[in-house]
Amino acid sequence: MVQSMNCEIINVGTELLTGAILNTNSQFLSSELSNIGINVHNISVVGDNPKRLQLVLENALNNNDIIILTGGLGPTGDDLTKEVVSKVFGKKLVLDNTEKEHLQNWFNKRNIPFTKNNLKQAYLPEDSIKIENPNGTAPGVYLHEDGKYIFLLPGPPGELKELYFNFVQPTLKSFNNQKVESRFYNITGLGESLVEDKLKDLVENQKNPTIATYANLGEILVRLTANGPDAEKLLDEKEKIIKERLGKYIFSYSNNSLVNTIGNCLIERNLTLSSAESCTGGMIGEQLTAIPGISQAYLLGLITYSNEAKIKVLNVNKKTLEKYGAVSEETCWEMCTNVRKILGTDFGIATTGIAGPDGGTPEKPVGLVYTGLATKDTVKIKRNLFYGNRDTVRKRTCNVIFQMLREELF
Ligand code: ATP
Ligand code: MG
Repeated sequence: MVQSMNCEIINVGTELLTGAILNTNSQFLSSELSNIGINVHNISVVGDNPKRLQLVLENALNNNDIIILTGGLGPTGDDLTKEVVSKVFGKKLVLDNTEKEHLQNWFNKRNIPFTKNNLKQAYLPEDSIKIENPNGTAPGVYLHEDGKYIFLLPGPPGELKELYFNFVQPTLKSFNNQKVESRFYNITGLGESLVEDKLKDLVENQKNPTIATYANLGEILVRLTANGPDAEKLLDEKEKIIKERLGKYIFSYSNNSLVNTIGNCLIERNLTLSSAESCTGGMIGEQLTAIPGISQAYLLGLITYSNEAKIKVLNVNKKTLEKYGAVSEETCWEMCTNVRKILGTDFGIATTGIAGPDGGTPEKPVGLVYTGLATKDTVKIKRNLFYGNRDTVRKRTCNVIFQMLREELF
């Protein structure tokens, strides 16, 4: 039964140790595994070195039922995960002819010469199961040996995710005769400590369901995970309490980000938006344009960083800037009102502030940001005083803008 199963994730790759790339595969796997009730007890990162990988793997096998290795399945000399796993289990690597053909076709289709080292990817440990990799050349591997469940997944995150959802997750779920269910509550507009405080008794007395909170710059995720035949009922009971205490701050029940929730709501309701960004310099536009289909809703995004741009492009009154300054309620008011009018969108949003580290004064300190939202009939301006460095101030500004839109939309 998976309930009591422990897992270790082993990420293979020297580039992970030198800091050349961020280990997003471990984050993805550990959050997915906890959602299906598997305890990740350890995450190891090891370079492309067979001796050290062998030691890490042997140690992991002593303490865990499930081992997931990522990376090092490719064709090059430093890709050695399969070789080390085979050695540890005393298995030969054997050529898989279907995989060989698949590889040759893959190379032919793309007109890339098929070299001998590419064939390496078609070798699999004896008695293992191949995990098809539709998006890449290196297949994954599943091995059930000595009561242990070993998964080898390719390093590229897109390929890894696909193999996880196609094969690893259903396989792990099939071991389990108990139901494991997770639910998510995405919250904004309330600080993390307040959220924790409101859920303190649930967190302290947690058993089944378990409850966890994660915070990221103004967005808080609460996760409930229950197991057993009554999982749904147990979740319903706790969900009722969470809704009573946090209901109006919950913006998504499907672990969606705030910007995605807003963007999709605009699309669904056929509403349109324009933005004029100063201190966020395009961060709002960048996040919105990452949403598929947003072009029908997000019609205009201006970065009006200088006073000149605010005057000439946005038609902000020169006198307003002279009298109140660029970082002021009055300027923000004109920015969001005027940007909305250019195309006559339903909403106009604007940011203007002092992101730091320099440029602050006693009256207008670093972290002072005005955020504005205009509709045809109303204008709302919020004065924010953020702490943190330049990057944090800018990110928090985006969060507040999305919160203001949410309040308007919901
Ligand atoms: P390939 O066939 O592409 O060589 P592979 O299974 O051999 O796949 P690696 O060579 O270890 O995988 O890594 C390939 C690329 O995948 C890396 O350059 C990196 O961009 C990405 N990658 C590898 N491991 C991770 C990780 N833990 N987190 C995020 N990205 C990773
Ligand atoms: Mg590789």
